[in-house]
Amino acid sequence: MSPSATPIHAAERLATRRLADALDLPAFETGWVWLAGAGPGDPGLVTLLGLHAIAEADVILYDALANEALLKLARPTAKLVFAGKRGGKASCRQNDISRTLVSLARRGARVLRLKGGDPFVFGRGGEEALTLARAGVPFRIVPGVTAGIGGLAYAGIPVTHRDTNHAVTFITGHGADGKLPALDWNAVAKGSPTLVFYMALAHADEIVTKLLEAGRDAREPAAIVSNATGEGQSVVVTTLENLGCDAKSSAAPAILVVGENVRLREGLDWLGALNEGRMLKADPLGREKLRDVS
Ligand code: SAH
Repeated sequence: MSPSATPIHAAERLATRRLADALDLPAFETGWVWLAGAGPGDPGLVTLLGLHAIAEADVILYDALANEALLKLARPTAKLVFAGKRGGKASCRQNDISRTLVSLARRGARVLRLKGGDPFVFGRGGEEALTLARAGVPFRIVPGVTAGIGGLAYAGIPVTHRDTNHAVTFITGHGADGKLPALDWNAVAKGSPTLVFYMALAHADEIVTKLLEAGRDAREPAAIVSNATGEGQSVVVTTLENLGCDAKSSAAPAILVVGENVRLREGLDWLGALNEGRMLKADPLGREKLRDVS
């Protein structure tokens, strides 16, 4: 079932159009496809360009991870098409989606492909855009807040921090064949202090084994952030050696993170402070290295 766009939101669409005009955002022309990121869950994390696209599109093909609340701002006449996997149920074939984008655009529609997070981060946005390019269909990419950065921020974990990591690696736990990708795990383990995993719940045990074999410390802090930025966000702070076990009882979608920067959550869990009155530690790294900017 598609959520239907309601005329109730005409005023909001008008406001969005005014905002787009004021900021001189590009017009969504007919016959174009925009591939846009919806952000990781909180509808407030969509970009203005993304919102503009939602308000103007004639057809919106949206993924399971794109927050459906955003679709309320679509034109009442817009066709809303669910095109994604949900809970392991049959997914629309990738080729079908790409072909649909091409044929809709050729019929003169303004086509919005709305994806969770950022369309170019483990989201097959590149594949879809290449099909459009080959077919000669004009397209625009609208980046979004990716779960591995924005989701961690909502968990109070900065993806980089100069006291913990000068580099970060983003990894998918799910290769095209469904298996753990055949990476050089030695290089991955040594390459950067912070590792952020997408789609990794199912292979978490294997990931932990590879990282331990490559010399990462079993007691290193790690975290699992489920439903990040959404209403059901939950965070489990653990250690590398227990990450596989904790992954088994964690809900998808989830981001896994390994590295010292996880410790910063004790001082930066702003959402916990807001919702549960959590006390934030002044010096979570225990180094008295706080650089006071006041
Ligand atoms: N393009 C998306 C990623 C798509 S791959 C992005 O940039 O965020 C799907 C994976 O993203 C999920 O398996 C999970 O690892 C992660 N993910 C997406 N949304 C998430 C959320 N709200 N909370 C936690 N993980 C999320």
